[in-house]
Amino acid sequence: MPSVPQRVPASTHGIDPTLLDANSLEVIAKLRSAGFDAYLVGGCVRDLLLGEIPKDFDVATDATPEEVKGVFRRARLVGRRFRIAHVRFGREIIEVSTFRKGESSLVELNSDGMILSDNEYGTLAEDALRRDFTINALYYDPLSGDLLDYVDALKDLKARRIAFIGQVDVRLAEDPVRAIRALRFKAKLKFDVADSIHSALPEAARRLQAIPSARLFEEFNKLFLLGYAHAAWHVISSSPLHQALFPGTLPASELVSKAMRNTDARIAAGKPATPGFLLAVLLWEDYVARMHRFMPMHPAIVASNLAADQSIAVQTSVIAIPRRYSTFVREVWSLQPRLEEPSPKTLERLVSHKRFRAAYDLLDLRAQIDPALTPMFDWWTKYQAQPDLRADLVASLPRARTPASGRRRRRSRKGAGTGVSILVP
Ligand code: ATP
Ligand code: MG
Repeated sequence: MPSVPQRVPASTHGIDPTLLDANSLEVIAKLRSAGFDAYLVGGCVRDLLLGEIPKDFDVATDATPEEVKGVFRRARLVGRRFRIAHVRFGREIIEVSTFRKGESSLVELNSDGMILSDNEYGTLAEDALRRDFTINALYYDPLSGDLLDYVDALKDLKARRIAFIGQVDVRLAEDPVRAIRALRFKAKLKFDVADSIHSALPEAARRLQAIPSARLFEEFNKLFLLGYAHAAWHVISSSPLHQALFPGTLPASELVSKAMRNTDARIAAGKPATPGFLLAVLLWEDYVARMHRFMPMHPAIVASNLAADQSIAVQTSVIAIPRRYSTFVREVWSLQPRLEEPSPKTLERLVSHKRFRAAYDLLDLRAQIDPALTPMFDWWTKYQAQPDLRADLVASLPRARTPASGRRRRRSRKGAGTGVSILVP
């Protein structure tokens, strides 16, 4: 690979300077006037060239993280494996990373060739070569308007191709998360992934076991909360990474596919989306199957708790689920039987439950697959929309919990009233 870049002038590459983010430009200008080198890099340059609005603007510089902090007092240094500076502008954070050497005796590798820490600083040319894909290694100089291309990135961008810089197996051994990233960019950009990457995926899937589960939670969020969840799910679930990442979810789950579509629609409409809801859907069928297995031996409530514990534990062993989200998942699940067979006395308490809306959304998805749930789902839709008619609606409840299926008899009848109906559609 050349250490002299192709320099592409503004007149040729066509990036519209008015689309650049003012804060990242300020970071670059200040670093330059303090005597450092600095560029926009990575996803933002790639997306601008594709005519997309970048999600965020990252800066690469020859200033060390400490030197960045010297220029921006408010900068925070974050990351251990990969130390960078965060410069905050209100709600926006500009990530400033120092040029890395990438390949060096000082980059810490484990016996499997995996990078444990990458904090050995290098030159701009070295930084370009340690990036994952060619299309992610373009540098843009906002002052001259020039684009710097060390790795024939523009050619791959034009061919809509995701290709590693360097050897596929080495780059995946250094960091198997790059396999997830390859599929994520395939989904996001609708690019092709080279065959050599596809054939390396089973090995990368095996290596993912060594990745800290907290890092995989970050990847999970990037896959499914950025507006292309359905495409990302399709690509991941039909790949060898599926089993490694989602051992409890069937790749062909219609429920999950629908949830991913809904998530994209919510994000497109500017509504919030939570990983908690997606996890509740991803693990729902696994949870129900496990509950089935526990039902003969335990009262329903116990079976439900054991199933939830197991289902969440299996997923957490791969992808860390922060406590607030696992609590969310449990609450949404435990509301399902209560929404399916509500007790007329607790209706108001149910609608004001802080997870009611999420539970109702899950019931919606389930009803799209199991029409037996539709009357109850429609009833809840009316109940929410027409507060004045609530008294009449109570009289027309499709499946109210009868005293016989109520709390007291549940234990002896093993499961009546709490969860049986979600098991037997
Ligand atoms: P987007 O932000 O649109 O999801 P991105 O390309 O900006 O995509 P980030 O995760 O923000 O992705 O990473 C910024 C840049 O850092 C990438 O473009 C790439 O050059 C580099 N990079 C990120 N993760 C890795 C990695 N695991 N290995 C090598 N380079 C990486
Ligand atoms: Mg980015």
